[in-house]
Amino acid sequence: MKTVEEALQEILDSVPPLEIEQVTLLDSLNRVLARDINSSRFIPPRDNSAMDGYALRSEDIMSASRQRPVTLRCVEEIPAGGYSARVLASGEAARIMTGAPIPEGADTVVKIEDVTVDAEGVTFYAPSEKGVNIRRRGEDVVDGETILTKGTPIGPAQLGMLAATGNALVPLYRRPVVAIIATGNELIEVDGDPSPGKIVSSNSYTLYGQVVEAGAVPLPLGIARDTREDLLAHFTLAKERADVIVSSGGVSMGDYDYVRDVLRELGAEVRFESVAQRPGKPFTFALLNGLPLFGVPGNPVSAMVSFEQYIRPAIRKMTGHRALFRRTVKATLEEPLTKKGGFTYFLRGLLTGRDGRFTVTTTGDQGSGILKSMARANCIIVLPRHMTTIESGSEAAVQVIDNSLLAATEPGYLEGFSA
Ligand code: AMP
Ligand code: MG
Repeated sequence: MKTVEEALQEILDSVPPLEIEQVTLLDSLNRVLARDINSSRFIPPRDNSAMDGYALRSEDIMSASRQRPVTLRCVEEIPAGGYSARVLASGEAARIMTGAPIPEGADTVVKIEDVTVDAEGVTFYAPSEKGVNIRRRGEDVVDGETILTKGTPIGPAQLGMLAATGNALVPLYRRPVVAIIATGNELIEVDGDPSPGKIVSSNSYTLYGQVVEAGAVPLPLGIARDTREDLLAHFTLAKERADVIVSSGGVSMGDYDYVRDVLRELGAEVRFESVAQRPGKPFTFALLNGLPLFGVPGNPVSAMVSFEQYIRPAIRKMTGHRALFRRTVKATLEEPLTKKGGFTYFLRGLLTGRDGRFTVTTTGDQGSGILKSMARANCIIVLPRHMTTIESGSEAAVQVIDNSLLAATEPGYLEGFSA
């Protein structure tokens, strides 16, 4: 039996990042850059005005004051998107809009609110230093600069940077297609008839959600019955169409648990078939012609926890992420816990944070079939293998699995940080 750490290491050592593909910019959202991106432009491309106002030579109004205003002749108007070829001479000003390029000769901009305009020209009442209200060429990005590095996930700001630097196509790691197979004679579809002995294959849904959340492309292959033939058919199809296979159920020691037999029949190299963990002890990892195949136990929470701990990091490695794991925080346990030695425990918890301190409680019954306590959880409490009793008030490592559950109902500036 592998330890949790050994199992994870073995999996990560066996999955390489997938190949690189060029993707149109909008489709790159939430994916991962496969190369460093260097800008071949300056942003802004030229010095431009930060205000609606007047561009001029600062020396012309050096002496301006309320008592002794200075009037300059307005010689042109430069709208945003416009451009002036004229060199601004001494005694001249150009009306200029925000974002418009500064005309040659000008070195400062005075905003519209600070001047008066009449038939004589534009009148200034105070000096304006060189460079005031001017955004410099390249102040954001210079030509040749590395704007984003390989391994960066693309969110809204990264989309914007890529757009601003003219990257209509983006080099990304390909996302794996993940086949999802539920196994079990007792399983029905969500709209099936819940006659005696039948249950809905909820794993088909939790695993689908987890695959999408991990950044891969789900390929739901439905329910395989607990027969050699049906399992063979499902795994064969999955092998042809997917980069990763996740099957649920059929890896325990029951009479109808045929998954491993079928895998061997297909020539799979079974790397391990149990992990010293709860839930999810019979978690199985195999390579099918190099294709990673994960057999998660059928119990709904065992399936989800196994996915969280092993399959999600594997998918993130395949898609080029540098950060493979959830954020882990230390939290104060608000209840005592006991466990069996020799197994790492993953408990469903509710994490709350206030003023930089976290506290955590379990979300109720921790049976591996109790999906409700998973649905109420926003974190996984990790209890190390060697521990047996954990006192209330002690610290535990907690993996944050759902940031949205830490979201607030009030904006942060209303929440208790007043002086
Ligand atoms: P197994 O790992 O096949 O022995 O299944 C263990 C338990 O998980 C049994 O109670 C199954 O009914 C349940 N189970 C198996 N597959 C699923 C599934 N796809 N959705 C929900 N529960 C399942
Ligand atoms: Mg089964």
